[in-house]
Amino acid sequence: MKKEGILLIVSGPSGSGKGTVVSKLVESGEFCLSISATTRKPRDYEEEGVHYFFHTKEEFEAMAEKGELLEWASFCDNYYGTPKAYVEQCLKEGKNVILEIEVQGAFQVKELMPESVLIFLMAPNVTELRKRLTGRGTEDSSVIEKRISRAMEEMELVSKYDYVIINDTVEKSVEDIKTIVSAESMRTSRNSDINKMFKGEI
Ligand code: ADP
Ligand code: 5GP
Repeated sequence: MKKEGILLIVSGPSGSGKGTVVSKLVESGEFCLSISATTRKPRDYEEEGVHYFFHTKEEFEAMAEKGELLEWASFCDNYYGTPKAYVEQCLKEGKNVILEIEVQGAFQVKELMPESVLIFLMAPNVTELRKRLTGRGTEDSSVIEKRISRAMEEMELVSKYDYVIINDTVEKSVEDIKTIVSAESMRTSRNSDINKMFKGEI
């Protein structure tokens, strides 16, 4: 019998390296990535349906109203949300799914799906966070300051997460997340049929 996949939620301050780490995990072929809907304007390199599904505020609100989103939240003046159908389908097929979402959305999902795994990824310190945000070159200085001030609020919530990873190097963070998934897959609560399997009944 196929086990349901593990739902991993990766949050952390903007610029901490979530996108970079998550894309390496997805490249490994071991994870499905949920593509979020947003009202934010696309960055130069971003493509529709690859990085986000870009919507107007009205379109986004209609999706939320129709119950098509697993969770949604407002972050620095834009809406972001997770389309529900894709996540449910992947989990049913036994695939592990990653949501790269901010804290309010993460807590909404944990409430709905308590077996989901919350991982908080942080930069080693604020100076490094600012350096990464500036180095990425995708936001102007006023947006960077807004995101850093939001980072301070988000850091207060670390203790509500199941795991915390300091993203010193991308390679180590990728390995850390794979280790967490490996341990989570061995939880007794995810292996309730192990007895039947042993006896050859399934
Ligand atoms: P987030 O998705 O959390 O906003 P990004 O993945 O876009 O962050 O990373 C922000 C910037 O920091 C990018 O320019 C990225 O290349 C860089 N970066 C990510 N992880 C590291 C790391 N471990 N060490 C140094 N720079 C990193
Ligand atoms: P960015 O604008 O840098 O792409 O994302 C801003 C923040 O929104 C990040 O913290 C990112 O994790 C979060 N985010 C992206 N997609 C979603 C989503 O579907 N739901 C929620 N709640 N947050 C999201």
